[in-house]
Amino acid sequence: MSASSELSTPGGKLRLYVEAALGEDLRIAPGGDQAHYLLHVMRAREGDRISLFNGRDGDWLARIAEISKRGCTLECERLSAGQKEEADLWLVFAPVKKTPADYLAQKATELGVRALLPVITRRTIVARVNLERMRANAVEAAEQSGRLSVPEVREPQSFEKLLAAWPQERRLLFCDEGGDAAPIAAALRDSPGGPWAVVTGPEGGFDPAERTALRAMACVTPVSLGERILRADTAALAALAIWQAVKASSL
Ligand code: SAH
Repeated sequence: MSASSELSTPGGKLRLYVEAALGEDLRIAPGGDQAHYLLHVMRAREGDRISLFNGRDGDWLARIAEISKRGCTLECERLSAGQKEEADLWLVFAPVKKTPADYLAQKATELGVRALLPVITRRTIVARVNLERMRANAVEAAEQSGRLSVPEVREPQSFEKLLAAWPQERRLLFCDEGGDAAPIAAALRDSPGGPWAVVTGPEGGFDPAERTALRAMACVTPVSLGERILRADTAALAALAIWQAVKASSL
């Protein structure tokens, strides 16, 4: 019988995202897939320990209290880390071909976004995204990256409607390949704190009417990511990383 231990994966200690409340001595019965993963992939045994988080109660070390044919029960033992919110950053992106949105969901989660908002712009050629896959990738990336929260993944919506209802207190970092925007790092250094969103366009970029609408908004900061034209997903991840480094100093 192997001594009980804290289960780990190649990416580090095993962490699972659950919906249930977490707290001293609370018991959680993970859902089917998670129970299968624990018992049959990770070959967990009674007494083994894993970390649980739910986006509200912090990170809890939990012990496998019992295993049955139906699954297993985990018991919270102690709080390993208090709940921590990510910096208030959204990613508004026009989905593009060849880079599945679930890849972007994984990378944006690792880079600390609080929400992903897929938008359909005038030149967007990808009409739909697989929300379920995006959400599953976001959960997995949150577990692997040590986050204590999972970003929200919104339903796709028209870019025009999003801008019309945009919350003015949230600044919009408009990744503008047009060539006349200020370099991103300087622009961010000279701009206010508070909630932000990065926005990137589709393969064909934003159309003139969208650019005009964006530049007319007081909460918009157009920025350049340099002279090279980046793929939309490259631009999004670069902008997220630079924002984290400059505004949240978390990279
Ligand atoms: N219209 C471009 C292609 C758009 S690239 C062309 O001339 O071919 C897709 C999106 O990535 C753009 O809408 C923009 O949001 C972002 N992007 C790409 N390169 C960029 C750069 N150098 N600076 C700022 N944003 C960029």
